Amino acid sequence: MADLYPADRLTTAQQAADRAGLDALLLTPGADLRYLTGYDAKPLERLTCLVLPTHGEPVLVVPRLERAAATASPASMLGIEIATHEETDDAYALVAGILGAPGTIGLANRMWAEQVLRFAAALPDAKQELAGPALRELRMRKTPEEVDALRRAGAAIDRVHNRMGEWLRAGRTEAEVGHDIADAILAEGHAQVNFVIVGSGPNGASPHHELSNRIVLDGDPVVVDIGGSMPDGYCSDCTRTYAVGAPPQEFSDYYAVLQAAQQAACQVVRPGVTPESVDAAARDIIAAAGYGPQFIHRTGHGIGLEEHEDPYIVGGNTEPLSVGNAFSIEPGIYLEDSHGARIEDIVVVTEDGHTNLDPGCTRDLVVLD
Ligand code: ZN
Ligand code: ZN
Repeated sequence: MADLYPADRLTTAQQAADRAGLDALLLTPGADLRYLTGYDAKPLERLTCLVLPTHGEPVLVVPRLERAAATASPASMLGIEIATHEETDDAYALVAGILGAPGTIGLANRMWAEQVLRFAAALPDAKQELAGPALRELRMRKTPEEVDALRRAGAAIDRVHNRMGEWLRAGRTEAEVGHDIADAILAEGHAQVNFVIVGSGPNGASPHHELSNRIVLDGDPVVVDIGGSMPDGYCSDCTRTYAVGAPPQEFSDYYAVLQAAQQAACQVVRPGVTPESVDAAARDIIAAAGYGPQFIHRTGHGIGLEEHEDPYIVGGNTEPLSVGNAFSIEPGIYLEDSHGARIEDIVVVTEDGHTNLDPGCTRDLVVLD
């Protein structure tokens, strides 16, 4: 796992923070902290925070009782000093003491509001900004080791899809099917289930429907979108749409359109192409077939230590793709009150195009009996 956290990453982050005009980064538990240190810290009411001065040594501030966990993480292999605070200490004053008098500090985008306000009180002269803009380019450009981690996650979720016939049958509820899928997500190597969507029949027309007590009927199209985090933190996310028994003709017709659109969007991915043109590659085919108004979301999202991160594959995003960007391609067609379909793969931009990280399960319609 050490290869996932190269020793020069902290320095690179400091340089990025410097370019962004920040004097320090303050990163509470979350993807940024894990990305820089490998430490999968618990989000507790007690303060855990990586204090990373732009010009200075990093200090990982942790509650006394979390010291062992922090020491066991890759953070200590990176030589990061760990400073602990006791129950009666003011942890925010401890951070202020480490930083001195910074002009501008970058706070983790998803830091809790109560922590933001405590930092404002402890460092009253420091201007607060977001750390995300400084770190996003780094996190978007996956290293070969990160791509391998995403590939392992993709292979694990593909194995779950390939077992769908064990669970998805007429007469079972979405919830029953979903609980079996969740068990399999763990059994196939994930450390955590992040979401399980089983959208049968009309529920398939709601992209973020999760599970319900609806009984799957013969002839139902069923959207199954599943993902989890591997022990190293990297995420999977893969959607396949199944038919339980023979589906309606209209569904088969638009499924073919969707499959062509998803494939077309994958095929345009290469360095220099804009996310909005990848989105358009899928959207144009769906619109030409008359289903434009039924494709009600963007084509994809970046993925890494978070299920949704930069870059977003959406109209208006003109920042050219570059090698190492990893994101989903997941167009969908949703017929309200009837049924829907979505096909989702994770792809990574390579020098000469892209690699698909979900090659293990077919995009052809799988009919389960
Ligand atoms: Zn998904
Ligand atoms: Zn997705």
